[in-house]
Amino acid sequence: MPPETAPELVRGIESCRLCAPDFARTATAHKPRPVVWFRPGARILIAGQAPGLRVHEAGRPFWDASGRRLREWLGMSEDEFYDLTRVAVVPMAFCFPGYDAKGGDLPPPPRCAATWHGQVTEALGEMPLLLPVGGHAHRWHLGAKGGVTETVAGWRSHAPRFFPLPHPSWRNTGWLKRNPWFAAELLPVLRARVREVLDEG
Ligand code: SF4
Repeated sequence: MPPETAPELVRGIESCRLCAPDFARTATAHKPRPVVWFRPGARILIAGQAPGLRVHEAGRPFWDASGRRLREWLGMSEDEFYDLTRVAVVPMAFCFPGYDAKGGDLPPPPRCAATWHGQVTEALGEMPLLLPVGGHAHRWHLGAKGGVTETVAGWRSHAPRFFPLPHPSWRNTGWLKRNPWFAAELLPVLRARVREVLDEG
């Protein structure tokens, strides 16, 4: 996609309301608010799951405790992370999917990736570093068939272009304790690769 059409794509996603009827039926009964954070030319793609409530309210990706943990994993400052010329954040759904009746997170609506991801991928072009975060993104970007632990544990077969990551949510604090190899082995290599890609750009 030529660069001049990318702003149109961004505006098209920002005005998307395809999921409005579904979101109205959730416990949160919220309206769609797409959080669109990419520009052609970025070098690192963070492929997350979907905005949480705080991100929905702020309109800025990973603007929460998960984001602080993710930036620490990547060894990136807030300024670097939110530099659109270097980092793109493209989740499996651009909007907060809402909560179910028990207060659990609803999954990203599949129609979002089906509707938008092909065009976004074309707009961004080949990126030197892609970080699928969480099981939905592992399946979409890597064709992963197993669970999150198995996919992340197999990171060496995807590096240095892809690094599958678990979600940095506080809910995964137990997972991080049970899998100390993640901090000891994967993160140092990931941080070095992030620095290399940022320095090259
Ligand atoms: S989640 Fe995606 S498809 Fe659904 S309203 Fe938001 S931008 Fe549109």
